[in-house]
Amino acid sequence: MDTLSRLAEALRCLPGVGPKSAQRMVFHLLQNQRQRGLHLASCLEHAMTHIIHCERCNNYTEQPLCDLCQNPNRDSFLLCVVETPVDVSAIEQSKAFRGKYFVLMGKISPLDGLGPDDIGLPKLKNLIIQEGIKEVILALSPSVEGQTTIHFIHQLLRDEPIHISQLAHGIPSGGELEFLDSNTIESALRNRALINV
Ligand SMILES: [Zn+2]
Repeated sequence: MDTLSRLAEALRCLPGVGPKSAQRMVFHLLQNQRQRGLHLASCLEHAMTHIIHCERCNNYTEQPLCDLCQNPNRDSFLLCVVETPVDVSAIEQSKAFRGKYFVLMGKISPLDGLGPDDIGLPKLKNLIIQEGIKEVILALSPSVEGQTTIHFIHQLLRDEPIHISQLAHGIPSGGELEFLDSNTIESALRNRALINV
């Protein structure tokens, strides 16, 4: 495979990029964006090499602990549980949440062989006990897997002296947090409901 085809093929790892758009990107960069192309390559290499998961919350960071976990101005007794690091960004952009986060490594999905241990639920429980968390907000998607995960977390924490709530309805069914506008996230957080399982 020649260099040009190899680059086009590599770009296809990005979501929504098919063979045609990959080829268009390659020609676009070669034609008049060579400096930007090189900048893109070096940013990509730096990010892929240096970004790791935060030891406490699993969010992306370059240090052992992410900025959010280290921030003394965040409410340490309020914990928001999300599915992926991109959900943390979405909620942060809404500016509606002042607590800390815990990022699950996915959702419970028996079909994909993902159980409670695979998505880090034992770590979540330890963190809640060790840090004396008082309220947990489950900001998971309203998919079947999301609801299964909420149910499981509720069972896991039922003996702990904490409030557990989940985002209010208004999140479109099947909707991922990252695609919601800040107002929707803000109102879903404000109108969060206690869970009765
Ligand atoms: Zn963190």
